Amino acid sequence: MYIDKDNYYRIKEQLTAAGATLVAVSKTKPAEALLELYELGHRDFGENYVQELREKQALLPADIRWHFIGHLQSNKVKYIAPFVHLIHGVDSFRLLKEINKQAAKHNRSINVLLQVHIATEETKYGFEENEVSTGKLEEVLQELPHVRIRGLMGMASFSDDTGLVRAEFRKLSHLYRNLERNATLQPEILSMGMSGDYKIALEEGSNMVRIGSAIFGSR
Ligand SMILES: *Cc1c(COP(=O)(O)O)cnc(C)c1O
Repeated sequence: MYIDKDNYYRIKEQLTAAGATLVAVSKTKPAEALLELYELGHRDFGENYVQELREKQALLPADIRWHFIGHLQSNKVKYIAPFVHLIHGVDSFRLLKEINKQAAKHNRSINVLLQVHIATEETKYGFEENEVSTGKLEEVLQELPHVRIRGLMGMASFSDDTGLVRAEFRKLSHLYRNLERNATLQPEILSMGMSGDYKIALEEGSNMVRIGSAIFGSR
């Protein structure tokens, strides 16, 4: 028994009520742990490390939707390009170009979310808010036909200050609503919220959360 089923079902219920998708973050957990969740019908799994993702993908059922949620280096895109379902943490135009190139090689489009730097902490990756303007994204859309920008992703400060966390999520939510108003972009995914802050994220409009330790236990 790797997973906390009661917690899983409770979280699922909350997310269903909010109309949000659960990405089960399985980094550092063995393939058997993922399989346990898979057997309950779960299909969306999130991983942070390319090598670990490749190993698990080779071992586990083909209908799993693999989300890459970590910091992705350009030279590693090629390893996940054949199968990845959604790349959450795209944080540079250079990386977008590389994703486009690798996706083209495999005759597919790759879904991506742009990571926006919303935390006051210095350490988090991501675009600055003014870099993800609709004009810039329309330009990208034209130049990179194998990349599909589906929305935004962000991480709040790791903090007990719920007011701060809420304000950061709200900032991202605003940015997302602005993109939503643009007819050509049509974003659908706002990925924000983890085990410790997903309830706040849902209240601020998240429709995809990435939860690890609340389901799989601490790492
Ligand atoms: C590890 C991780 C998560 C999940 O964190 P938990 O606190 O275990 O829920 C979510 N998003 C990203 C980007 C992560 O690296």
